[in-house]
Amino acid sequence: MKAAVIQEIGSPLAIEDIPDPEPGLTDLILKVGACGICGTDLHMSENTDPNVGWRMMQPGCVMGHEFAGEVVEVGREAKPHWHTGDRVTALPWIGCGECEWCKAGRGYRCAKGINRASLALPGAYADYCRVGAREAIRLPDSVSFREGALVEPLAVGLNAVRKARLVPGDRVLIIGAGPVGLTVAMWCRFFGAQHIVVSDLVPTRAEQSLALGATAVVDTSAGDVPAQAADLAGGTPRVVFDCVGVPGSLQLAIDYASPDAQIVVVGLCMAGDHLFPTKALVKELDISFAFVYRQEDFATVVHLLGEGRLDVAPMVSDKVDLAAFPDAFEALKNPNTQIKVMLEAD
Ligand SMILES: [Zn+2]
Ligand SMILES: [Zn+2]
Repeated sequence: MKAAVIQEIGSPLAIEDIPDPEPGLTDLILKVGACGICGTDLHMSENTDPNVGWRMMQPGCVMGHEFAGEVVEVGREAKPHWHTGDRVTALPWIGCGECEWCKAGRGYRCAKGINRASLALPGAYADYCRVGAREAIRLPDSVSFREGALVEPLAVGLNAVRKARLVPGDRVLIIGAGPVGLTVAMWCRFFGAQHIVVSDLVPTRAEQSLALGATAVVDTSAGDVPAQAADLAGGTPRVVFDCVGVPGSLQLAIDYASPDAQIVVVGLCMAGDHLFPTKALVKELDISFAFVYRQEDFATVVHLLGEGRLDVAPMVSDKVDLAAFPDAFEALKNPNTQIKVMLEAD
């Protein structure tokens, strides 16, 4: 099969012929229907520092963890429950299924598990990919592969908003209008926030959030972001999300928040940062960090999509096929106004 392979860290991906994946006893093989490009992959494809707090990519890896597709092969022990032709999305890991983490739906912490985009578990920037049957979630007929590929980023947003302990009527500020910021805006709306203000240095990015749940956007070029945010939100924000993840962005969230506010850090900052703890201390802020999701979040998102309760169409700005994929991936490393770019076969 063909796949977009990392040949060398920091170099563009290359389309290569690699062996088709084979199912283990409890695995499924999917023909990939859609796979979104994730900012994490952009970061990881360039990271050469083993001290960033997360893993490094190996040459030969295939990335892509936001996907959906059709089952074309079923491992022997998965046969009672799965059939060729089933349409699924899947978690980006295969866990042991037995340990405490796996039982809690958090197999990314499983000591015996494998995570996607490793040599052991290639991702879905490819024609086919292997998933664990336990980690697969069936898509209702009404949910397209494209929507199925959005389940993962939607689950990231859901997990972040859960950590914010949002209450109906809340005043929210979201810093950063990338795909994560947009899904956070969507869930804040879903759970009844009254004011959802979005700030991004690229004005068109911030404006896109209005189609996904934001109620107002900050004009960063006009300066004094905290005053604008407080004005647009009807008061200083009680919940602030850092969906940027660059050195300094957490400090901004601290500076913009009201006393006793909730701050949730979702952006993946790949460098050391410096902040002023007393500014958070005197406000008695509650700061939490949100990483991925639990298996039940995937199931919730799939269920809501199936019922037509989430309008996610504005999340996807572009689609590419596999041949054009490496160029599209490289282009996203430069400033852009794209939201989610989807790998989709025609
Ligand atoms: Zn992702
Ligand atoms: Zn486990």
